[in-house]
Amino acid sequence: MSLKANDPSRKTWLDLPENTDFPIQNIPFGVFLTRDDIITIGTRIGDYAIDLGALHQLGYFKDIPLTEDIFLQDSLNDFIADGRKTWRAVRNRVAELFDATNNELKSNEKDKETILFTLDEIEMQMPVQVGDYTDFYSSKEHATNVGKMFRDPENALLPNWLHAPIGYHGRSSSIVPSGIPLHRPQGQKLPKGASEPIFGPTRHLDFELEMAFVTTASNHLGEPIPSEDAENYIFGMVLFNDWSARDLQKWEYQPLGPFLGKNFGSALSPWIVTLDALEPFRVEGPKPVKKLLPYLETKGKKSFDISLSVAITPDRGEETIITKSNFKYMYWNMSQQLAHHTVNGCPVNSGDLMASGTISGPTPESYGSMLELSWNGSKPVKLNDGQERRFIEDKDTVTLRGYCQNHEVRIGFGEVSTRILPVFKS
Ligand code: CA
Repeated sequence: MSLKANDPSRKTWLDLPENTDFPIQNIPFGVFLTRDDIITIGTRIGDYAIDLGALHQLGYFKDIPLTEDIFLQDSLNDFIADGRKTWRAVRNRVAELFDATNNELKSNEKDKETILFTLDEIEMQMPVQVGDYTDFYSSKEHATNVGKMFRDPENALLPNWLHAPIGYHGRSSSIVPSGIPLHRPQGQKLPKGASEPIFGPTRHLDFELEMAFVTTASNHLGEPIPSEDAENYIFGMVLFNDWSARDLQKWEYQPLGPFLGKNFGSALSPWIVTLDALEPFRVEGPKPVKKLLPYLETKGKKSFDISLSVAITPDRGEETIITKSNFKYMYWNMSQQLAHHTVNGCPVNSGDLMASGTISGPTPESYGSMLELSWNGSKPVKLNDGQERRFIEDKDTVTLRGYCQNHEVRIGFGEVSTRILPVFKS
């Protein structure tokens, strides 16, 4: 099926703000609560949220084979499980309905009233019920920086790193959408020079600038997904802030890896941008340094040029952008990650979330965490109002943004924003 929805010359009859992340060529998917307290699946064009459940009930999708309640759900899992053909048909139809030359819906005031919402009338929810969450560690720059700080500057990358996309299984219960605040976590940590741990609030609270992809039902138990097929099972991508408590992490991570320093919260942008919408922004990723095992080989442009940024806003203060990176720096691409994840027969389901790992670029201005930006607290990061940050403080808000842009179109992800609250008190 052709990607008619991507036609860069298409204009919509809706009013669009300038430089919107959500032109008619984007058509992302999300879940929201309406002014009447109804939960529905929707899409977004400009600053309008569009109720796909209502559109379907009004008969606007009658030529697409969809079950009656496919959009009347509190998650996208069933829609995603329907597969790529359905996602494409729905995106194409939405593009057609909102096309400036189409009067079907444009001239029907009553239907427009039912299906269109301004953003202040809705509340975004988690787009999927995340069954399993996996976090990769696929930025060579990030892995090198961490290796330099905590191990051996001469051999910063561990021997396995250049041979496989390293990852660990995270926890899905604490993944939240943008706007939900998180409490500063507490836990065990080992003070410098001490031989016994103490308990208390983390002093090294950090963000991780990541993106994550959402999968459809992909394989049966025992069945690997070949790298060349992997993209067929990727629905789309979101911005992802994988919150981390470095002091807790440092004490606990050996020998089994991340645990309580990671699973207290991760936040995502609520609109899933489809891989189809990102098509014009394909680029080749970095060339492999080592010869890859055949199951990890990929051909062609398997990465995407996505500009990323992180901002800190102190309590009642102004925002400072503290880093700018790009998804294209990722050493391992999503096809390699999914092929590696399933090569042993591990099944992947609809709504599973796979995060990239911190996306650091080659220069200090493009590092994807406070750990790297402040070099483990040794170089404070200056904010516009004169304050300094080594790590994230209470009442700080951290906002990740991302978009793709060429001379024809801008496809963006919006943002994921999280405010940090003081330690939880009962
Ligand atoms: Ca991470």
